[in-house]
Amino acid sequence: MIDIQKALDLVLSQKQFYGAEEVPLTEAVGRFLAEDIFTDRDAPPFDRVMMDGIAIQLKDINDPLRPNYPIQGIQAAGAPQMTLKAPDHCLEVMTGAILPLGTDTVIPYEEVEIKDGTAYVKIKKAIKRFVHRKGSDSPNGALVLQKGKKIHPGDIGILATVGKSRVVVAKFPTIAIISTGDELVEIDEKPLAHQIRKSNVYNLWASLLQEGIHAERHHIIDDHGVLQTQLKILIQKFDVLLLSGGVSMGKFDHLPTVFEELGVQKLFHRVAQRPGKPFWFGYHKEFNTKIFAYPGNPVSTYVNHLFYFQQWLHASLGQTLQMEHKELGEDIPANPNLARFVSVKIDPVTGNVVPFSHNGSGDLFSLAETDGFLLLPQREKEYQKGERLLFLAIR
Ligand code: AMP
Ligand code: MG
Repeated sequence: MIDIQKALDLVLSQKQFYGAEEVPLTEAVGRFLAEDIFTDRDAPPFDRVMMDGIAIQLKDINDPLRPNYPIQGIQAAGAPQMTLKAPDHCLEVMTGAILPLGTDTVIPYEEVEIKDGTAYVKIKKAIKRFVHRKGSDSPNGALVLQKGKKIHPGDIGILATVGKSRVVVAKFPTIAIISTGDELVEIDEKPLAHQIRKSNVYNLWASLLQEGIHAERHHIIDDHGVLQTQLKILIQKFDVLLLSGGVSMGKFDHLPTVFEELGVQKLFHRVAQRPGKPFWFGYHKEFNTKIFAYPGNPVSTYVNHLFYFQQWLHASLGQTLQMEHKELGEDIPANPNLARFVSVKIDPVTGNVVPFSHNGSGDLFSLAETDGFLLLPQREKEYQKGERLLFLAIR
């Protein structure tokens, strides 16, 4: 058995780039950039008016304003640049317009009164210039988004503004999710007294879908021969296999043996953690298939997936996953033998996380109450209220 850090290092040692592909901008959210993004002009591209009002010439911002300025015309957003003809006149300007030539300051409408073609100014001095200077956000040719970044909706706006209607992103690995266990039936079946509906495959499938990955779902019965035949095919066909069940100590937990027979290189089996201790991880050398075999208890499967697979996926696609940390809301006794992922709720007032008790890793319904899992590292010292610990959010 190895500790959690060693297990994570081994998982991350298997990070893998699956190539790049071009997608339309409208499909790029949540994907990982596989190209650097540069501006194709200054940002903003011209001196941009920041307020609706009047534009005047005021060489020194500290100079007193005139009591009134005759209005020469209107500079609208989207109209070519106008020129102020007389320095004691003004032009009405709209937010987003190019600043008229010969002007340098905008007095917002709130500070003026317009009557008979003249703007009467209610203040003695300009508040500020209200001009968003050309190139002040980013000069032309600047690197604005770096390769490897996970694209969020704000980035989509940036990509749009620099004219990227198509974006080069990292390809996702192809993934099969495989449930094992003869007690499992399909969700639209009525289970017999000794059966249950499969849930893990759907939990994992949904988690991948949130990342934008469409995985295939499979089921294999707890039969040595069948497992061997089916897994052989799936190993050749997919980049990643996510399995649930069949890796513990039971008489029908055949997976570790079958993997060995199929030539899968084991990197570890069993991690000093609870839940999810029997986690098995390895890869097939010839087909370069990564295999995450989670123990079947629903909470075990999910915790392992959130901790190991998510970090592996992000590393593979180009970005280290920034792990969230949260403050522990109460003292918890130490456990020197195991790391623990405890189910917690976030206190809406303090933002601290507080563990709550449930019926263990088989208690699927506890997930409804859980905001996430807090990682209590394996150590001698008690965990103290106020300590910041790694948090795996369920969202
Ligand atoms: P195993 O790891 O195969 O020993 O399974 C441990 C527990 O998890 C058993 O109670 C299984 O019935 C349950 N289990 C395994 N796979 C699934 C699944 N796909 N959905 C729900 N429960 C499962
Ligand atoms: Mg089983």
